[in-house]
Amino acid sequence: CLLTDKIDGEVMDSFGPQLKIIANMAVGFDNVDTQEAKKRGIMIANTPGVLTNTVAEHTFALMLSIAHRIPEADKFTRAGKYENWAPMLMLGNDLSGKTLGVVGLGRIGSRVAHHAARGFEMKVLYYDINRNEEFEKEFGAVYMPLDDVLKQSDFISIHVPLLDSTRHLINPEKLKLMKPTAYLVNTSRGPIVDEAALADALKNNVIRGAALDVFEFEPKITPELLTLDNVILTPHIASATEETRSNMSALAANNIIEGLEGRTPPNLLKN
Ligand code: NAD
Repeated sequence: CLLTDKIDGEVMDSFGPQLKIIANMAVGFDNVDTQEAKKRGIMIANTPGVLTNTVAEHTFALMLSIAHRIPEADKFTRAGKYENWAPMLMLGNDLSGKTLGVVGLGRIGSRVAHHAARGFEMKVLYYDINRNEEFEKEFGAVYMPLDDVLKQSDFISIHVPLLDSTRHLINPEKLKLMKPTAYLVNTSRGPIVDEAALADALKNNVIRGAALDVFEFEPKITPELLTLDNVILTPHIASATEETRSNMSALAANNIIEGLEGRTPPNLLKN
């Protein structure tokens, strides 16, 4: 199934007792009721790993695009407004030398942190429920509480899964902790950010900008976001490359085959 398919107990029952495995073609599995699956003895599998690099690249594409104002500049150029090189035309911000705050240093978050430290000489701060001292040593990353990450970073990138504990993790209070010059990037799940509060923060220059691949009520988008120039919106395509979508579907298919043939699917969730 896809991340847009809500698989609850009722859906599971509609398949009858022959339902053995739910193979999500996504790494996030917040669309599947894991407790209901457990009660019925149904396996759940996802597609971790194969999309990590692609999502990290998309995160960087968004970060570069918002900081260098690429969509805005493209619109400006196409509208025939480019008349002269000018010293102050469309000033943006550098990534290099800045501080990136990673919220959720898992597979994708750590790949983003890797690109930031190695490719852009960014300082990396992170918050996670688990500390990763090996990663800290290798990349000079610094572990700190969420509030400190928010206060000290120039770019914040969200990579936690959607759970009860992460819903609205970024709320009006947290947005106020961020620097007024900071950018927020979310390629994880929409409901982790209070979208109405983010729209307000962007409109009132509480933060400088945002780039979002996911939305709280997707495919619906808070209308105000559509009117703002300091936000970039992509339609949940962070893993959408030919290579990765092909690998994701093969992995999902393999999970089903292994599960139905009585072996342990390679990406079985331990719920
Ligand atoms: P992962 O499990 O490797 O990483 C998640 C990290 O978040 C872990 O390190 C975990 O310890 C941490 N975490 C969990 N709960 C937390 C909490 N309450 N506070 C702080 N940290 C917490 O997962 P991943 O493969 O890196 O994927 C991350 C998420 O990205 C997925 O769950 C999915 O929702 C999202 N995603 C989105 C797209 C897209 O198309 N936009 C594509 C792939 C994945």
